[in-house]
Amino acid sequence: MKHKCGYCGGTGIVECDCTGGCGKKYADEDCPMCLGKGVHICPECNGTGKAEDDE
Ligand SMILES: [Zn+2]
Ligand SMILES: [Zn+2]
Repeated sequence: MKHKCGYCGGTGIVECDCTGGCGKKYADEDCPMCLGKGVHICPECNGTGKAEDDE
């Protein structure tokens, strides 16, 4: 049974930890993870927004 991915909230994308606050570590170059976009595909669901119920 599939359910909404809890990591990204079902959007399939997550805010990259390079953005905002003390996490902004790539000020002068594009972050390799999000390529400077500030968001990247959810690693938990690979961008589908769904997650397998692994109970
Ligand atoms: Zn996800
Ligand atoms: Zn990033």
